[in-house]
Amino acid sequence: MGGWTIGYGLLNFAILAAALFLIGRKLLPRMLRERRARIEQALQDSEQAKRRAAAMSEELKGSAQRREKQAEDIRREAEKLAEENRAKNREKDQEILDKVGAQAQRGVEQTMLEARRRLTDEVSAKLADSAGVELRTKASLEKLRQLDERFLRRLETEAQPTMADKARLLDDNSVKAVLCAAREPEQQELEQIVNLLRQRFGVENVDLEIRVNPSLIGGMRLQIGDTVYDGSLSHMLERIRRDFAEGDSLEGDVLAGIEKHVPEISLDMDVFQTGHVSSLSDGICRVSGLSDVMAGEMLRFRGDLRGMVMDLDRNNVGVVLLGNYDNVQEGDEVRRTGRIIEVPVGEALIGRVVDALGRPVDGKGLVHATDSRPIESPAPGVIERQSVSVPMHTGIKAIDALIPIGRGQRELIIGDRQTGKTAIALDTIINQKGKNMICIYVAIGQKESTVASVVEKLRAHSAMDYSIVVCANASEPAPMLYIAPYAGAAMGEYFMHEGKDVLIVYDDLSKQAVAYREISLLLHRPPGREAYPGDVFYLHSRLLERAARLNDEHGGGSMTALPIIETQAGDISAYIPTNVISITDGQIFLETELFNMGLRPAINVGLSVSRVGGAAQLGAMKQVAGRLRMDLAQYRELAAFSQFGSDLDRATQAALQRGARMTELLKQAQYAPVDAAAQVIILFAANEGFVDDLELGELADFEKKLVRYVRRRFPQLNKEIKSGKKLSEESMEKLRGLIRECKKK
Ligand code: ATP
Ligand code: MG
Repeated sequence: MGGWTIGYGLLNFAILAAALFLIGRKLLPRMLRERRARIEQALQDSEQAKRRAAAMSEELKGSAQRREKQAEDIRREAEKLAEENRAKNREKDQEILDKVGAQAQRGVEQTMLEARRRLTDEVSAKLADSAGVELRTKASLEKLRQLDERFLRRLETEAQPTMADKARLLDDNSVKAVLCAAREPEQQELEQIVNLLRQRFGVENVDLEIRVNPSLIGGMRLQIGDTVYDGSLSHMLERIRRDFAEGDSLEGDVLAGIEKHVPEISLDMDVFQTGHVSSLSDGICRVSGLSDVMAGEMLRFRGDLRGMVMDLDRNNVGVVLLGNYDNVQEGDEVRRTGRIIEVPVGEALIGRVVDALGRPVDGKGLVHATDSRPIESPAPGVIERQSVSVPMHTGIKAIDALIPIGRGQRELIIGDRQTGKTAIALDTIINQKGKNMICIYVAIGQKESTVASVVEKLRAHSAMDYSIVVCANASEPAPMLYIAPYAGAAMGEYFMHEGKDVLIVYDDLSKQAVAYREISLLLHRPPGREAYPGDVFYLHSRLLERAARLNDEHGGGSMTALPIIETQAGDISAYIPTNVISITDGQIFLETELFNMGLRPAINVGLSVSRVGGAAQLGAMKQVAGRLRMDLAQYRELAAFSQFGSDLDRATQAALQRGARMTELLKQAQYAPVDAAAQVIILFAANEGFVDDLELGELADFEKKLVRYVRRRFPQLNKEIKSGKKLSEESMEKLRGLIRECKKK
């Protein structure tokens, strides 16, 4: 029994041991394998973590560097901004200082002017007084005799029959003369005069009428026909007064100025022709006498009023009065000046607002001009000119691309009222900043408030620094409106002959034509078509012919003219518009319909042309504009057509899309001229189809963004465009790339 138990126990043990052995042989290696695998995994993980940590630390280092660079950029930007701000502040301070300075200067000049007026009046009154007192003393008798002797001596050299006198002598073999004297002339003096006249005029009979007039104070005054030989003291005093008043002694001491004049006072007699007002109506007067007067000559009326001779008749001359004529009366004496109407010219006028006679109206004191020019002068001849080849950029995309204007060209701006005619002219003036161009804006027949706002706008854009404004407002007499453009042209011509470039705007010539019609009708000239006189064409042709580009022997200066004409209901075939269109080298036609559609500037591209400006267009601009013109023309036709049908093939749709985008791109706000390079960039993008997939509303922003982007990354482009050459293949390729990049951003 006991042996069985032990044997059974041993068997059990053996079975258990065998089972354990079997299980252990299988499980242990697996356990060991797994364990090793886990250790290896852990090892790998730790290796990876180490690598990641290294990468992270690399990255951290990089980002720290980037952040540092960004901080550096921001700091630099801030510094630049601060510097700009400082500069701006400095400019503002300077502006305020300038303004205050100008105001003070104006105040001083005004006070000086008043003081001088008062002083000259006082001085001449004193002179007259003392002359009167002096003459009452015994000793003065001798002096008076001396004055008479002087007069007679001068008469010997001066007395000559004028053309009119000679003509009269043919009819009547006698001379009629009137001698005015302050005291009864002596017999011997009378004989001397009669003999002189007899000899000079070659006649037997001399009818000498003698009048004693104490208001002459002293001396004599002889009148033969229209000619006056004035040696009277009252005349001399009047001349001295005028010299003082007109003399330019504003600088320095007023009294010193007058004293300087005293030694120059001449006691010589004056010879002048006179006439008398025989009738006066509506600012036109007829003057009898003045038989040798020239057409266009300036005459002096009472109270410093001036007139211009317009009509030469057999018995009298027709004169238009340039100013307030309330004080003129029939019978008034009128004096010749012997000079065609002239205006002051030169640098002194720049920045000023003057009237049609060049007198300042901006309250900034006298114009210290050193030169003057007659308002009418012949236009430069063919020999003196050269063809237009330098562009005059207006800064308006539609014009510079499609209707380019060259220096020396005459380009008409035509359209109904309120279509943005003045706006184009002003933008062009503003765009001339820094381009070495002198601008003249002639405002004809406009409201005073309109002119004031134009001047304000020019000033705000610092365009008055190189501009002159000549204005003849609606409230002024018609003759002022008539001569204003000629006055402006004379001022421009001065600079042109100095070799400078001038831009002149006549705003507008239809009002000048109306003023001229008014004058002509009042002068009883026969009315022609639309009641305009026969020579209304000449009115504008002689004005616009004065715009020219001189050749290098004549200084190489130029005068570009932008005349403006207002049409009625878009009728460009009316009398004055057709005349001016035929004189100018092209026109920019503005339409109310386009303006109201919001297409501003409202240029009708189909009806606008520039006949000579193409030669002056920059090469790059020409490259982009050619395509533009075609696309727009195609668009106009298709747009008219597509109104009727809705089923359009893809090509037509594409053309319409392109046209709509081009039209949108040519829109431009006021006072925001775009320079030539920017125009080329944006038109190039449009031509190459880069804007076809943009919405119309996005275009304005895209234009700004693109120009900025290209400017920053391709600064050499500006130079290339300005050089006037066509864009090279590489530049175009680079530009395409930049446009693509910009679009992605
Ligand atoms: P008028 O016949 O009275 O002389 P005009 O033809 O000279 O008028 P402007 O006075 O230049 O026309 O312009 C008329 C109005 O249109 C003005 O109020 C002006 O501000 C506006 N205007 C002109 N051009 C633009 C433009 N490009 N964008 C927006 N507004 C414009
Ligand atoms: Mg206008």
